[in-house]
Amino acid sequence: MTTREALLASVDAAREEIIALCQALVRVPSINTGVMPTGNETPAAEIVRDKLAAEGIAAEILESAPNRGNVIARLSGSAGVPRLLYLSHTDVVPVEDEAAWTYPPFGAEIHDGRIYGRGSNDMKNTVAAEAMALILLKRAGVPLRGELIFAAGADEESGGEWGFAWLAKHHPDKLRADFGINEGGGALVHADDGRLAYLVNTGEKGRLEIVITVKGRGYHASQPWRADNAVYKSQEVVRRIATYEPERHVDPILIGPLAALYGVSEPITAENVDRIAAELDERNPNWGSSLKAMTRMTLVASMINAGVKSNSVAESCTITCDVRTLPHQDEGYVHDQLSRLLAGLDGVSFIINYTAVPSASPYDGPGAAFAERVGAATRAALGRDDLAFVPGLTVGFTDSRLVRHLCPVIYGFLPSHPDADPSKGGAHNINESTDIASLLLSTKMLVALAYDTLAEQ
Ligand SMILES: [Zn+2]
Repeated sequence: MTTREALLASVDAAREEIIALCQALVRVPSINTGVMPTGNETPAAEIVRDKLAAEGIAAEILESAPNRGNVIARLSGSAGVPRLLYLSHTDVVPVEDEAAWTYPPFGAEIHDGRIYGRGSNDMKNTVAAEAMALILLKRAGVPLRGELIFAAGADEESGGEWGFAWLAKHHPDKLRADFGINEGGGALVHADDGRLAYLVNTGEKGRLEIVITVKGRGYHASQPWRADNAVYKSQEVVRRIATYEPERHVDPILIGPLAALYGVSEPITAENVDRIAAELDERNPNWGSSLKAMTRMTLVASMINAGVKSNSVAESCTITCDVRTLPHQDEGYVHDQLSRLLAGLDGVSFIINYTAVPSASPYDGPGAAFAERVGAATRAALGRDDLAFVPGLTVGFTDSRLVRHLCPVIYGFLPSHPDADPSKGGAHNINESTDIASLLLSTKMLVALAYDTLAEQ
């Protein structure tokens, strides 16, 4: 048996231990409401630190605020490079109605091959898998050339200010790496030709909120002609938003493999992408929709608010919009788009509030060799050669955006097991759960990837 095979077998041997670690983490209610004091991630960080320390792996907890622990550990190598970073977060979203859950949300009960509980899927399963990858490599005594870094942050669910944003600001050297793995990818797509393909997420769209204010002039509602009604004035603004035509942008590295998977034979361009998306819609609405989302900025009016009283004509109206940008579209781009859209309208102004900046890692160039290794590690973990891997772009955001300046190639990728039911994960939902087969598969992929990337050959 080669070392790599022995490592993969050690994951099966450690099955109960991996499950127990995931369960212990789920039982810590590290709920993040977004309003301080909250999160209380330190007890979860302590479980991981103690588990690693018991194996002789130095791990430290760095608190950004009382009880908001971030945990970092590393396996050093003889040359110190390359460095591979395994990222995760220990906070979870709140449980709204505990009575609606079939199993207790912090019970980590196992039923039908799944661990149930808040955070079991997002993402204490990965915290356990990544920590166990370090432990199994250490136990196997694999001589490493490069370094494996484990970092589980706080506060991801509220934007990461007390987690990876804080770590990147105060301890950048502890996160500096060449390659990284985080949540946000690893879903399976059944290709047009029956092949099974994994989505490797290379980046995420940005998210902004635009607040447009339309100013009019109020007056008593009994003489409306003496007012300049902000409700009526906003009609033109709403019309322009509704008919906004975003620029189509086709990145061939991102779109090409996905299109091939969907059975599209002609090269996709900015000119034909809408027709092709419409054709895909007929066969699978998810395909057409994802192609559209990956090739343009979206702008949609999501809230509108005007007036203060029914017997007064509205003096002002605000229209709030949600905007999702492609990785290369910065705030200047959004500002320019909105300025053009609203040009020539009197009394109309807007502000931009950022929630998350867009970011992406290359899938070619410096990313190509790592992408290859991610594929190879997954094939080995699953014992299957017939798998395809395609880059993707997620519309949600993760901590990766906070770390990419320190670790340029980070992929969202933890493979789901082909036998797992994709409808059952339920991150952020009632009855959130993780299937044990995917938990073990992810752990295997992580040990194989670390071995392939870092071991002395
Ligand atoms: Zn998450």
